[in-house]
Amino acid sequence: MRSVNAVIPEKKVMLQSPAIKPARNLYLQLLSPQSISIILSALFCLLISLLFFARGTTQALPATVSSTPPAVIHTDPRAVIHADPPAPLQGSPTTAAIVQRTLPAPIYPFPRDVRQQVGVLERYHRFFFGGNPAQQEIALTFDDGPYPPYTGEILAVLKKYNVKASFFDIGHHIAEHPELVKQEFDEGHTVAIHSWNHVYLTGYSPAGVDEQINNTSVLLKKTIGIQPKFFRPPYGAYNTTVLTEANKLGLTTFLWNDVASDWLRPGVTVISSRIINAARNGSIVLLHDGDGDHYNAVASREQTVQALPTIIITLKARGYRFVTLDQLVADMHA
Ligand SMILES: [Zn+2]
Repeated sequence: MRSVNAVIPEKKVMLQSPAIKPARNLYLQLLSPQSISIILSALFCLLISLLFFARGTTQALPATVSSTPPAVIHTDPRAVIHADPPAPLQGSPTTAAIVQRTLPAPIYPFPRDVRQQVGVLERYHRFFFGGNPAQQEIALTFDDGPYPPYTGEILAVLKKYNVKASFFDIGHHIAEHPELVKQEFDEGHTVAIHSWNHVYLTGYSPAGVDEQINNTSVLLKKTIGIQPKFFRPPYGAYNTTVLTEANKLGLTTFLWNDVASDWLRPGVTVISSRIINAARNGSIVLLHDGDGDHYNAVASREQTVQALPTIIITLKARGYRFVTLDQLVADMHA
């Protein structure tokens, strides 16, 4: 009895004392029905949580994608933007359309010297005096509009002879006559940036150049629905600041190599003969549908309008085809 009595209190002490817990007793506790049910419940909860997490993750992906605004895909061929360095677009029309939406990345490193900058930009097809000399094609370009009534009259001549051309528009004129810009675009012509108010950009800081270009670009995009990607500095005046900003913004800069000084109104025949005599493969012809220098006074572009049919008829008869600047860039690869 004594020995039994001695054992029982000893067992009680061992079980009741938190200070001394041999592993064997912990093991026994874990194997108790209550403990097993608690562990099973915890495992069940963990499993349910994991399932919810996994379900939430798989649902979150499509939710994220669908919350993105639907992509605006422009199927208009004028939206074609060459890659950098330029390469023909490949793949399905959808793939091509997505690629077309992106302006080229800035060229880097970009030299500091203006002549080196032109050289680099030309190699990447981001700066043009003229197009591909192997192509019997000519790009007519009209600057300083939109400008009634001459822009409408020029559009009518182009339509009559089924010719596509390009327009370098001025921001404040776009604000005044957005319907003419829409008409230029809707009738298949390339619409591009010519600054906001026709200043010499060479006298501006980088921020000032950006402002002149970007304000025009934003308004053009709002007007025609696609991102303009071509640019011509007023007066053809450029320096390192202008070219650096054009490169940074992903714009392609166009000068010209066939000009008649039509803005000086030298006479209809003088304008047409000058343009025709200077025409060659890949010519970029500079003409004017508007006036960059005056906000309010109307400078007549009637001589340019009247010279245009002779220019078109004569050069077509010589085997030239007229192309937009988009086409001229694309034909650099032809
Ligand atoms: Zn101009």
